[in-house]
Amino acid sequence: MDSLDAFARDALETLDAEGLRRRLTPTARLGGAQVTRGGRPLISFSCNDYLGLSHDPRVKAAAMAAVQAHGAGAGASRLVTGDHPLLAALEARLAAVKGKSDALVFGSGYLANIAIPPALTREGDLILADELAHACLLAGARLSAARTLRFAHNDLDALAALLRAERAGVRRVLILTERVFSMDGDRAPLAQMRTLAEDHDAWLLVDDAHGLGVVEPEVSAPLEMGTLSKALGGYGGYLAASAPVIDLLRSRARSFVYTTALPPASAAAALAALDILEAEPERRARPLALARRFAEALRLPVPQSPIVPLIVGTPERALGASAALEAEGFLAVAIRPPTVPPGTARLRFTFSAAHDAETVDRLAAAVARLIPESP
Ligand SMILES: *Cc1c(COP(=O)(O)O)cnc(C)c1O
Repeated sequence: MDSLDAFARDALETLDAEGLRRRLTPTARLGGAQVTRGGRPLISFSCNDYLGLSHDPRVKAAAMAAVQAHGAGAGASRLVTGDHPLLAALEARLAAVKGKSDALVFGSGYLANIAIPPALTREGDLILADELAHACLLAGARLSAARTLRFAHNDLDALAALLRAERAGVRRVLILTERVFSMDGDRAPLAQMRTLAEDHDAWLLVDDAHGLGVVEPEVSAPLEMGTLSKALGGYGGYLAASAPVIDLLRSRARSFVYTTALPPASAAAALAALDILEAEPERRARPLALARRFAEALRLPVPQSPIVPLIVGTPERALGASAALEAEGFLAVAIRPPTVPPGTARLRFTFSAAHDAETVDRLAAAVARLIPESP
């Protein structure tokens, strides 16, 4: 297997030379925004646990009770023997939260997104994707035999032009975008996009991974997917849509049919997290308020979500900035290509209900002092 190892070593050398090699750093999350790395305590601004629910005692208790009662794993695909009643309860709850008639739970958001485009489109169809759409939406598009075209980020004119030019020649059109873009934190103009989609009989899929629980959705798309792994603090993914669409997906979504069901504990944790989301609306406003406080201190544009990017350019600069903040006790992981476009390596700060204003102010002061690229 010399050629195999030689191939891997060559590829790693290239990644090293470009500053793009990725390495794992063991990180223990202690609850709140506290983590430890290499024995050092840090305050994390890089978790998507926006509401601090991953360590909420009520969420943990629900998961533990489900493990005790139902075991650690689901045992099989939903369509075989893995269809635990907790999953149907979670789907009913998600459908209600999203204002849809039904929902389907997947093992993760990634697994949902690689299933939806191929289940709804075929050869002779067209997929139109925002150029900044998440890697798993684009992976889903690639798994469909439909042709995929990308449109400029959040550009309604570009999308309209593509629809005018291409709609007549194809059977079905699926549009892919995100409510909150994961690496930039900005929001899609969904009201106008939905109208445009309806005008051209195109189907709009909105990825709500970073929206649920932290931004108010002003409009709903016919296809609303999301994750249980961010604001809900657990693990899993879902699609909420009309009853016939969800029924079709139960037969056609390959990453639903051919994979083991979500463990009962994950379903129980998500149900408990949804209870908290509903009972404590004040918690939902905190991440965005803290993001705005941080941005104001640094005179950055007003954030539209709890995600605030600080673009520094090269991968080396992003890694340097991240290391400088880590030395001060803040964890802000560098985001590099291909996760973001070349030349836009960045620190991506995410704010959580678990942060307090004083810590956010200290972070802003450290950023201003340590990162020359910041405004
Ligand atoms: C995180 C994320 C996903 C994937 O969700 P997981 O449950 O983590 O697999 C999908 N889309 C977007 C935009 C995301 O940020």
